[in-house]
Amino acid sequence: MHAQFVKSFAKFEQMVEIEPLPQIAFVGRSNAGKSSLLNMLTNHKGLAVTSQKPGRTRLINFFKVNDIHFVDLPGYGYSVASKSAEHGWGVEITNYLVKSEHLKLVFVLLDIRHAPSALDVGMLHFLQGHGITFKILATKCDKLSRAQQGNAKMKLATTLGLGKDDIILTSATNRQGREIILSILTNLSKSDIIHSGVK
Ligand code: GDP
Repeated sequence: MHAQFVKSFAKFEQMVEIEPLPQIAFVGRSNAGKSSLLNMLTNHKGLAVTSQKPGRTRLINFFKVNDIHFVDLPGYGYSVASKSAEHGWGVEITNYLVKSEHLKLVFVLLDIRHAPSALDVGMLHFLQGHGITFKILATKCDKLSRAQQGNAKMKLATTLGLGKDDIILTSATNRQGREIILSILTNLSKSDIIHSGVK
């Protein structure tokens, strides 16, 4: 899989210069396992480290992965101390999510071991309210047994009012969920090609 860092953006308006590829966004609270998952999906150990560099953690980071852009959105809810910075985060992410015509799907990362936080639920309501397609990636599943994973998935689906196909069990440690995610991405880029052919 070919994956490379493209560019970081502070504002949606700056993104006009980006190559018009389908975009898949990754969002979740800090520590949900986003960097690890991006590295696992792309087979690049240090890829998402780029997003962690000082000054880049609050930016929207673009990676080109084959013929798709992975869009790494800043983690939310890091600490009470970052509340004011979070406000700025919210405005730019909101702009991006609502306005990007290339955005095809949002993956919302939730740690399988924890109940969704108010910020997580807020994010899901926001996406639903704007008709933005999303799927949940339940992370760190290696920390639970298969039976516990099944129960946690059911509980998540019930709590969030989602179907079980909306939740994908993943682990960056043992690569669980990788094939399912890649097949979703393949179908997505295929359907995009068909659309652009029809237009
Ligand atoms: P981010 O802040 O969302 O980018 O999260 P990171 O990818 O930096 O991960 C946060 C912490 O969770 C780190 O200590 C990781 O090693 C750990 N972690 C991430 N993914 C997994 C996973 O799939 N399994 C386990 N056991 N730990 C994980």
